[in-house]
Amino acid sequence: MSRPVKIIIDLAAIQTNCRLAQTIAPQSKTVAVVKADAYGHGSVEVAKALEPQVEMLTVSCLEEALVLRENGLLKPILLLEGCFEQTELKIALANQCELVLHSQCQLEQLLKVNLASPINIWLKVDTGMHRLGISPQEVESIYAALTASKNVNNIVLMTHFAHADHVGGAFTPKQIDCFQNAIQPIIDTTSQKVQRSMANSAALLAWPQTRVDWNRPGIMLYGLSPFSELNDQTKHLKPAMSFESQVIAIRDISVGESVGYGCTWTAKRPSTIATIAVGYGDGYPRGAKSGTPVLINGQRAPLAGRVSMDLISVDVTDLANVKIGDTAILWGKDLSANEVANWAGTIGYELVTRMPKRVARLFVN
Ligand SMILES: *Cc1c(COP(=O)(O)O)cnc(C)c1O
Repeated sequence: MSRPVKIIIDLAAIQTNCRLAQTIAPQSKTVAVVKADAYGHGSVEVAKALEPQVEMLTVSCLEEALVLRENGLLKPILLLEGCFEQTELKIALANQCELVLHSQCQLEQLLKVNLASPINIWLKVDTGMHRLGISPQEVESIYAALTASKNVNNIVLMTHFAHADHVGGAFTPKQIDCFQNAIQPIIDTTSQKVQRSMANSAALLAWPQTRVDWNRPGIMLYGLSPFSELNDQTKHLKPAMSFESQVIAIRDISVGESVGYGCTWTAKRPSTIATIAVGYGDGYPRGAKSGTPVLINGQRAPLAGRVSMDLISVDVTDLANVKIGDTAILWGKDLSANEVANWAGTIGYELVTRMPKRVARLFVN
């Protein structure tokens, strides 16, 4: 028998979550976000599951897009950070990629290159995130330069939200206004319909005004809520990743005895400790504090002591009949990665995305 740690990816759950995104915003087209290996779920398999259902896929960079092309994915792929150097532009075009253009520097490269045919551009406007994007004041002139270039085909105007998970907060409406004001002169002077893209998962779920021509859902496809609280829509999301291992040892300890490195957890009562074959070397967060829930045979039991590289210890004193070989679920359908992340001072996005190669990944459905 081999070491029992694995992640199981439910591709049907991802399709269902995507359908939910599409049902919420039936007027919009969907760019499925499969960057960072589909948030650790496997970009090729996830993209294959979603391709029939969405208009476009998106990743961070050309290298990620080429992996999809080499594996037979055919839909257009948007590069969220655009190209990093001019030489990438021709390869991007030849591989049916579309480019986010977020800086003056990228504009210069695009205008200088000699492309065989024009490429589609997503002009990103910085409306308050202050990470990527041209300033609202530059929109008109850069749009005009793009329109005039023989290298440019269709242009989508896009922005990204900094705090859309803050439902009812003041920042998202400010960004929406800023975007609308920045692009209004273009809408007023262009004869074609100006295409827009604003919503990530949080905006799509919580801010109806952001559901425009193209939505860019990411985390919700994987069944994780972008919000700290459940709401009516996120309760229908199905977590697609199940992170599992098994109990490989059990012992009883007396009051006052400690568990794990640093002796940080001490038994306050005679206790039964189950040792699970999973640790930070498998992607379980070392920052998870004592008390973090683990599902053993479907029941919650608290983590006891520090997370080791290959092992964790769980206080199963209150669970009946725990045996070697019993299943332990670290996160999945009945225990959200968001909840575990909260115990570890991080977010579900990080936990699922940084799963190491060491952990076998199985696909179902
Ligand atoms: C990652 C990303 C998204 C998806 O965000 P989620 O919060 O995962 O839905 C959308 N747009 C851009 C520009 C991104 O970088």
